[in-house]
Formats: sequence, structure tokens, C-alpha cells
Amino acid sequence: MRRWFADFALVQGSWQRDVCIDVENGVIARVCSDAPRDDADYLGRYVLPGMPNLHSHAFQRALAGRTERFERPDDSFWTWREAMYREAAMADPDRLFVIARLLYADLLEMGYTRVCEFHYVHHQANGNHYAPVGAMSDALIAAAQEAGIGLTLLPTLYQRGGFRDEPLAPRQQRFAFALDDYLHLLDTLAARDEGFRFGAAIHSLRAVDAETIAAVCASPVLRARPIHIHISEQRRELEECLVVHGRYPIDRLIDIAPVDTRFCLVHATHASHDELAAIVRCGAVVGLCPTTEANLGDGLFEIGDYCRLGGRYGIGSDSHVGLDPREELRWLEYQARLASGQRNELGSATRPDVAANLWSDAVLGGAQACGASAGGIAVGADADFIELDPDDPAFAPVADQEVLAAWLFASARRPIKTVTVSGKRVIQEGRHSQRDVFESAFQDAVRSV
Ligand SMILES: [Zn+2]
Repeated sequence: MRRWFADFALVQGSWQRDVCIDVENGVIARVCSDAPRDDADYLGRYVLPGMPNLHSHAFQRALAGRTERFERPDDSFWTWREAMYREAAMADPDRLFVIARLLYADLLEMGYTRVCEFHYVHHQANGNHYAPVGAMSDALIAAAQEAGIGLTLLPTLYQRGGFRDEPLAPRQQRFAFALDDYLHLLDTLAARDEGFRFGAAIHSLRAVDAETIAAVCASPVLRARPIHIHISEQRRELEECLVVHGRYPIDRLIDIAPVDTRFCLVHATHASHDELAAIVRCGAVVGLCPTTEANLGDGLFEIGDYCRLGGRYGIGSDSHVGLDPREELRWLEYQARLASGQRNELGSATRPDVAANLWSDAVLGGAQACGASAGGIAVGADADFIELDPDDPAFAPVADQEVLAAWLFASARRPIKTVTVSGKRVIQEGRHSQRDVFESAFQDAVRSV
């Protein structure tokens, strides 16, 4: 058991003073405020729970910034997807490992302490399996372990080219798993005890049929593990789902699958008010990725409405055009302000601190999506902490209670001093100790010729 002490820590959505945190086996065993420091190790002046990143496609990091030139008048998600397929075609276990390892170190330096890897590039470019079949999964596991980030691996099922059972295109062959092979991969992961979590992902309703989704959800290995799905992201997909099934995607998913607290509905951008209410009744988390959703022109999620209904959400960096959790959270609040013409959309009379609400709610939703049994600085949660740099000039004019708002909305220059994952320090003085090694391997692997 190790005892940590913080002068101020964000506990259950508000700053508490003189906080002692006991950690056992990487998990928080006890939290006390107004406590004496005694011989506890010092965690910092301003300490936040680490942020889970609930949606990542690590290989897409090498594509970020390369699709921002006009190519045709109808540039869209669907034309971007072709560039993404070309990037996916270059992935192999070695390349994926070095891309993911640097990405995960970058994410840690920005305050993300866990990542859910929605992983669908499983096989060789011609569709043949690697030996072992989980070689690409192993690359992600090794990358997370070297970087020191908490991993929830979500091997993704992808079987068809559209809602009418269209076959996969040649460039999609490397995503394909037969159901039995897929469930076997999950069983293989369950047999390992190597410090990572796993769950399942269904790529989308267009990529897997209803019967198969039901079979995955009923698999015993997933009884208490997360299940993620891309849903309701692009309007074209909504219309196709409506034509084929007579239902919009979220209604359709709830018709065919036992949606519950295991589920993370990634994007849910075009959810109607009734669909949002249905998600809240199921207890599922919505996975919001505002920088990617903006980059791809997906649309605006009704975050204000959803929060007033009591909905749970977390954030993800998805295609990695943004790596800073503060940027995702600002976009959430700002898109609501731009739509309503008002301010402080995600605050209320009982919860007035918008920055504290954003950070705490996304931590809790993210922990649920990672498959953790609790979230935040609370008993049973992963001992993940970030320490703000108390010497940042952005904090000089503000009271202790306003530090989080200054950090999140006023762009502190030296954002994070230390990061602790499962009770272990992985970032000191804002920098990952292996950064130079990770960077040069990344540059060698991806440098454009
Ligand atoms: Zn995604």
C-alpha cells in the first residue's frame, strides 16, 4: 500500500483540500480530505483524475494533417475514408507498434491515462492472417506497455460492406473476421493476465448483421466487459439504415442488442431527443470525439439536451487530429454555446463549475467505457492522476477554486507536470522519459519518401 497526498484534488466533481489517497495494486483503496500529510508521498498542489481516452484508432495518427487539401467539390467523410484505407494498407505489426507507442506517450503527456483502442486492422493486406493471428493486437499491447498507458483493447468485428450484406471490398479484406475466429481471439485475450483490459467492438451496423451482433453480445467472455460501436455518425448511414430497416441506427441497435452499461455508443452525432433518452435509460456511455467529428464534418451532437437528460459521456481522440483532452472538452461546451447563443451550457445552479463538470463527467464516462469498476478519485478506481504545474502563469490571477477553469479555458502554457498511471509515475516534468527513442523510431517508420 502506498499513500499519496495532494494539497487540492478534484474529488466527485469539486476541489477538496488536503487529500490523502491510499493505493493498493494500482487501485484506489481509500480517499480522505482535510487529512494530515504525515509521511505520505507528495502528489502535487493541484491534482486531477487522469482522463480516459475512450476512442482511438492508433494507425490513423500517421494520417493526421495529410487530408486537409481540397481535392473535389464533394470532399467528405467518404472521400477521407479512401485516404484512411490507403494508410491502413501500410500498417503491419512493426509500423503499428512504433506509431502507437509514440502516440500513447503523447497522450500521456497531455493528461490521458488510459486508451480504448478500437482496433480493426487485423490481417495482412491480402486478407491472410498473421501468425499468430493476433499479431496486430500484440503490437498495440506492447506499445501501451512500453509507453505506460492503461489499455482497453477492443478487437473490432467487421464483416460486410453495407446494410444489404454487400461483400467487403478488396481494401477491406484485412478487417474481416469470421465470428468463431473472432470469439476465439477474445478467449485468447481472456487467458492472458498482462495488465491490460479488453472488450469487443462492432465496427458499425453497416459492417455486421443483427444476428452476429446478438451472438457477440451473448458471448460469456463479454458478460462484464465493454462493447463499443460506431453509430449515427454520418447522415448517409442514417438514411441507408432507415431505408433497409425502417429505423434510425440507435433505435435499430436497441431493437437488436441488449444495450446496457457495457455499451459505448461512439459519436451518436445525429441522435434525436427520443434516441438520447433511450440511451440514458440503457445506462450506456456516448463516446464523443469533437475534434475528429469536426474534422470529418460529421455534425453537432446535442450535448446540452443529453446532459439535461442525465446522459453519460466520455471523450476520445479517434483519428488523432487533436491529442489534448482540453481541446475535446472545450469543443463540447463551445459547440453548445454556438448553437444556443448562450454561455456555460454544461453548468447549472447546482453544478456551476463548467470546467469541473466537463472533466469529472468525461472521467466517469470514460472509466465506464474502459471497463473499470469505478472512475475518478474514488475507491475502486484506477490510481490515475495528473498534476497541474502550479507555476503556470495562467494560474497567477485566479483563486485555487478557479484553477481548473483557467487550465481548461485559458490555455495554460505548461499544462501538466506529472502523470501517474495505476499508481506509477510515467511522466515527470511534463515529459516521457523515452520520448527521444520513441520519436526517432516513429520518424524512421513513417517518413515520407
Ligand atoms: Zn472511430
